[in-house]
Parts: sequence; C-alpha cells; structure tokens
Amino acid sequence: MAEIISGKIVSAAKREEIKTRVARLNEQGKSVGLAVIIVGNNSASRVYVNNKKKACEEVGINSFEYALPEETTQAELLDLIAQLNNDPDVNGILCQLPLPSHIDEQAVINAIDPSKDVDAFHPFNVGHIMIGDYTFLPCTPAGIMEMLKFYNISVKGKKCVVIGRSNIVGKPMAMLLLKENGTVEICHSRTENLKEETLSADILVAAVGKAYFVTADMVKEGAVVIDVGMNRNAEGKLCGDVDYDEVEKKASFITPVPGGVGPMTITMLLENTVRAVEL
Ligand code: NAP
Repeated sequence: MAEIISGKIVSAAKREEIKTRVARLNEQGKSVGLAVIIVGNNSASRVYVNNKKKACEEVGINSFEYALPEETTQAELLDLIAQLNNDPDVNGILCQLPLPSHIDEQAVINAIDPSKDVDAFHPFNVGHIMIGDYTFLPCTPAGIMEMLKFYNISVKGKKCVVIGRSNIVGKPMAMLLLKENGTVEICHSRTENLKEETLSADILVAAVGKAYFVTADMVKEGAVVIDVGMNRNAEGKLCGDVDYDEVEKKASFITPVPGGVGPMTITMLLENTVRAVEL
C-alpha cells in the first residue's frame, strides 16, 4: 500500500510559513496584494477565483478582484492590465484562464509585467525556467516539487516520466525535475507504446485530463505517482487521471484527488505573490 502524499498537510505547513513572511513585510510597512481578473461566467473559473481570494485572506494577502463581463474586449482587458502593472498596491496579477474565445490569451499573458506574473506564464519567466534561474515558478509544478521535498523523495538520478506537454503543467514539470537531476521523459498523445514508457518510471506524473487514464498495469512496483488531473467521473465526482484504488496497491507514494496537487497550486500562487514583494 502506498504512502499518501497529502497536499493538505504540505499546503498547511507552507501557508503558515507564508503567513509569517507576510506579517514580517507588514511590520516593515509593506503590504502584499494580488489582483485577480476573471472574464465571463465560467463556473469552474468562478470557483477557482473564490478559492484564491479565500487563500489570500487566510495568509494576510490583499486580494483585488476584477470581474469583467463576457463581452469585454481585448483592448479593455489590456488597458486594465496596464493599469495594474503600474499600481504599487498590486504585486501580483493573475488573469484566470480560459478567456472567452474572442480574446487572445497569449497577448494577455504577454501584457503582464513579468515581475508581477505570479502564474509564471509570461515568456520572460518561461525562458528563465528553461535556464534554471527562476524568479517565479508555475504554481502546479512548483507545488509538486514542494510535496516531493516534504516527503523526502529524491529526484536525483531517477527516471521521471511526465504524461502531458502543456505549457502550464507538463513542460515546466519536466524542466523542474530535470533541474533536480532526474532523467526526464515527456509523453503525449502521439507517444507510441505509452505503457512501455510509464512502466520504466520511478516517478510518474500524470497531467492528461482523462479520468482513470493511468491504470495499475502502467505503473512500476514501488513508483511514486503524482496525479495532476482534475476530472469528473461518470457520477460527477471529482477524480484524477490515475485509477487510484488499483494504483495505490503498487506505488510507494501517491497523491490523492482531491487533496493532492490541487491545494498546492493555490499555495504556490501565494508563495509567488509574497516573493514578488520580497524581491
Ligand atoms: P492539456 O493542456 O489538455 O494537456 C493534456 C496533455 O495530455 C496533452 O499534452 C496531451 O497530448 C496529453 N494527452 C491527451 N491524451 C493523451 C493520451 N491518450 N496519451 C498520452 N497523452 C495524452 O491539460 P493541462 O492543462 O496540462 O491539464 C491536465 C490535467 O491537469 C487536467 O485534468 C487539468 O484540469 C488538471 N490540472 C490540475 C491542476 C491542479 O491544480 N490540480 C492545475 C492545472 C491542471 P497532446 O499535447 O499530444 O495533445
């Protein structure tokens, strides 16, 4: 039976640390502020934004919400970002994705001042991740690295297989594992013999977006399994990309869904926002 890597436990410890750092900054007369922009009525985005606001309150970060209507133009959104880039009370800017289809997401990401880009999606920060010299790390992969560290799981020399190559999870995840001296492989929908690849993994990260995609026969005995997926199963229940009940019998460590990677993502957003002030 695998040991559970609890995002709730790691997150609580990290949030305590962040709270102390915010209080220290406050004592020095510095406030910490995060602007969160949401465009349109996507209900999942609404839930994420509310959770982010709540987490900010918990650690003493000021959150400023900009809820814009679906019909907001790209020019209007870029104007708001320019205004926030120049606002000294705003240390971090987050524009909740996805945006309505008439808005070019990359243009919006590019407009955020890289020193306030707490999602680390701006090409400037992405470039720094490639170099291995970072200011901000993308929240989900950074949260996974924190969890591995917390549970003393060494990456050095390990075969790490990441399923998924998105810009927000798969690719940066691979770079962070590489930085920690893992031997890294990225798989995707065109990978041939996926099972052969995953069976070689000491550390397997699933970021696919398909419920129960990783089955026990794809996992090596004793592997560390990290489940990034957030899916709904046939009953509408939240579940990951991993067939948890079967895989946990084989893995040495495993993250559950919910309660695994999810809580860490928001915590690392808080970390980046505090860091924006500390730097
Ligand atoms: P994404 O952009 O849709 O990327 C999915 C990746 O999976 C793609 O690279 C795709 O390959 C690959 N893939 C799809 N079908 C595959 C198959 N049959 N075999 C191998 N690879 C396959 O998704 P994402 O944004 O990275 O997110 C992935 C999952 O993580 C989603 O469930 C999302 O909700 C969740 N997520 C969770 C958190 C959190 O905080 N817990 C944060 C972010 C995302 P191609 O590139 O070839 O299409």
